[in-house]
Amino acid sequence: MSFIPFNKPCIAGQELWNIAQAVQREHLSGDGWFTRQCCEWMEQQFHARKVLLTHSCTAALEMAAILCDIRPGDEFIVPSYTFVSTANAFVLRGGVPVFVDIRPDTLNLDETLLERAITPRTKVIVPVHYAGIACDMTAIMEIARRHHLPVVEDAAQGVGSSWRGQYLGTIGHLGCYSFHETKNFISGEGGALVINDERFLERAEIIREKGTDRSRFFRGMVDKYTWVDIGSSYLPGELTAAFLHAQLMESGKITERRLAIWQHYHENLAPLEQQGLIRRPVVPPGCCHGGHMYYLLTRTPAERAGLIAWLAERQIEAVFHYVPLHQSPMGRQLAPHTPPLPVTEDLHARLLRLPCFCELQPGQIDRVCAAVTDFFARSS
Ligand SMILES: *Cc1c(COP(=O)(O)O)cnc(C)c1O
Repeated sequence: MSFIPFNKPCIAGQELWNIAQAVQREHLSGDGWFTRQCCEWMEQQFHARKVLLTHSCTAALEMAAILCDIRPGDEFIVPSYTFVSTANAFVLRGGVPVFVDIRPDTLNLDETLLERAITPRTKVIVPVHYAGIACDMTAIMEIARRHHLPVVEDAAQGVGSSWRGQYLGTIGHLGCYSFHETKNFISGEGGALVINDERFLERAEIIREKGTDRSRFFRGMVDKYTWVDIGSSYLPGELTAAFLHAQLMESGKITERRLAIWQHYHENLAPLEQQGLIRRPVVPPGCCHGGHMYYLLTRTPAERAGLIAWLAERQIEAVFHYVPLHQSPMGRQLAPHTPPLPVTEDLHARLLRLPCFCELQPGQIDRVCAAVTDFFARSS
């Protein structure tokens, strides 16, 4: 019985060829030919005003926090059920997280709880598109508009996914993508900042280039470049961009594969849901996703632990994630007065992720589903 890992990086085919091309071009630092190609492709494909490659989604979120001018004591609204970087990027600027509960169907920020979390100190709203399935961006943008607040989308898992026809990351004022090897399109480590609001354009380039006006210099707009703002080095080298370009050029095929895997799981596991033994992911109307993740919810935390062990015995690696941030040591310290977040506290302990990667074969999916089904046949 062969081992089925939880993830395996997807290789599109042209990566090494592209890297050789980058070496031949003799430009290996950032913002060379491949970086430009990647950005232009995403701008066209996703109808984005401007895309800047970064070395991670974490870096893109840090840039967003600087652009939103987060100062010590400023509040930012974020779901507790997310990866640490969503909050950490703003905390680095002195921001104070205000954790909001999630919706039970999508595990995304509950837009009906958003408005009451806004205070005079609120500086930005940071929704996360969990599993690449969109938040209700219509409701979130409407509330943000009324309160004159910028929205930064954490679309790490939603590159190429959409909400009512608009690509995730392009709806808020800023959007953040990840190309980490666990995501849909990868470059090892990698990310991008999507800039949808004109007023952030110039400063974003400066922050990314160590706080200098180097980009303006290269466009011939200034005759020498100098230190003009705070910043850091947020740009990836060309080898990373060359790798990513190969992935983006095959993104249609990659998404097709992932969606087929997702659908296969969804159909095979339907009977267990009908018997009330598990809950499957919910995709609300208006959401187009890229099959980033397949998860299920067990009835109890103990049942999840049992199922993980059961699958491990059968050489299948299933995992769970996200200790709710408000219950983490840092979260408790930064937001000690967070009220109970009942949906987050319940669902995080019952969620189980199944293997999901391009090369996963139909026979392997059947084996995973059969093992899950056997577990419930034995225990119920
Ligand atoms: C993966 C992920 C990140 C971090 O992405 P990196 O590219 O590894 O920095 C941030 N937020 C969410 C929701 C993620 O899934």
